[in-house]
Amino acid sequence: MEVNLKGKCAVVTGAGAGIGKAIALELAKVGAMVAICDVMKEPAEAVAENLVQSGVKAKAYPVDVANFNQAQQVAEEIIKDFGGVHILVNNAGITRDNLLLRMSEAEFDQVIAVNLKGAFNFTKAFCRSMLNNRWGRIVNIASVIGEMGNAGQANYAAAKAGLIGFSKSIAKELAGRNITVNVIAPGFIATAMTEKLSEETRRAYINAIPLKRAGTPEDVAYLCVFLCSEAASYITGQVIRVDGGMLM
Ligand code: NAD
Repeated sequence: MEVNLKGKCAVVTGAGAGIGKAIALELAKVGAMVAICDVMKEPAEAVAENLVQSGVKAKAYPVDVANFNQAQQVAEEIIKDFGGVHILVNNAGITRDNLLLRMSEAEFDQVIAVNLKGAFNFTKAFCRSMLNNRWGRIVNIASVIGEMGNAGQANYAAAKAGLIGFSKSIAKELAGRNITVNVIAPGFIATAMTEKLSEETRRAYINAIPLKRAGTPEDVAYLCVFLCSEAASYITGQVIRVDGGMLM
């Protein structure tokens, strides 16, 4: 099986760091042009610059995925710059962990706004371009937490579970136009998001993983590239875990 995404334009959100950055780099390796979207301007520009240096068509777009109008504006810009979009990876996500009794309204709202509404904003902004192409791939990055729940993450689990329901619904809406929509549910991946946990919590997570290690951003990116490929054209509406066996 050879994956070739030459001529395809991929939009990756949260692509300035962690899993999103790995996805952008891996998609570029198999020929895709990449729009690097992130709320953090400098990291996004550094990723885009790195790709341009290696001969890939890429550009950074500073954008807050939670902002509906910004998503519409950036979509217009990207479609103008690349001539159309074929692949969308909704990866941008945040955590604001707290036990329910201590969780503020803002902590709940922010997590839903970025992790769930952000995917709505971007999917709505880009699906017309995919409909016009009669080909598309949407990959949404959820989490095993959206399936299993986790004490201290009611906001995050709700957002990720919501993202799964959202994805299955649009998979049904868009299937007739040759657009697949799938969800990747990573387990415990070594990025800035998990670095901020205490050593004790990290150890507890790794102990609960049959493969006994944290995943790498590339572990997630490889599946994403496959789901964006022609080889995955008969897979839609699925939730696929990359978690070292954490949830089975
Ligand atoms: P990260 O914190 O390393 O990177 C997230 C990126 O998203 C950052 O570059 C950040 O600037 C960007 N971002 C945050 N808010 C944004 C916004 N409003 N608009 C645009 N960009 C924004 O996190 P990560 O670990 O790479 O996580 C990526 C995705 O994977 C998230 O959706 C996360 O929930 C999910 N995930 C991560 C893990 C893990 O263990 N790291 C596990 C399961 C799921």
